[in-house]
Amino acid sequence: MKFVADAMLGRLAKWLRILGYDTAYFPQVEDRDLVRMARSEGRLLLTRDRELTRRRGLRSLLVESDRLDEQVGQLLRDLDLTVDWSVSRCAGCNTLLRSIDKEEVRSLVPPYVLREHQQFSLCPRCDKVYWKGTHWQRMRQRIERIQGG
Ligand SMILES: [Zn+2]
Repeated sequence: MKFVADAMLGRLAKWLRILGYDTAYFPQVEDRDLVRMARSEGRLLLTRDRELTRRRGLRSLLVESDRLDEQVGQLLRDLDLTVDWSVSRCAGCNTLLRSIDKEEVRSLVPPYVLREHQQFSLCPRCDKVYWKGTHWQRMRQRIERIQGG
């Protein structure tokens, strides 16, 4: 399942990417461009705008809450999403990551990160390096809490 998120849903879009889902998001975008992208790329439109969900010829979901936890909970529940914990996609730009040798990240991450982690991924588009650090662990705990009800 692929998504396009409206301008109100930036944090949700980042989380979806980290969970492995192809999610288009632009902080400033016209409604007609969101609708066009949803239609032409077969993306499910995620929106806080009830009016947009009434447009013909596109799949959409009205996101009910302003709170991230509730948004994630709604998607997991309503769309029956499975979660990919492998960290496969860049949270910033939606590009698929590639795994990178530890030696190659030596100059890119702090020494303590290099000591404590063995697996790293790189975004080939924006050069951001990913590893399953404390930020990722907290996010995973938070999602497992949401999944638990
Ligand atoms: Zn990126």
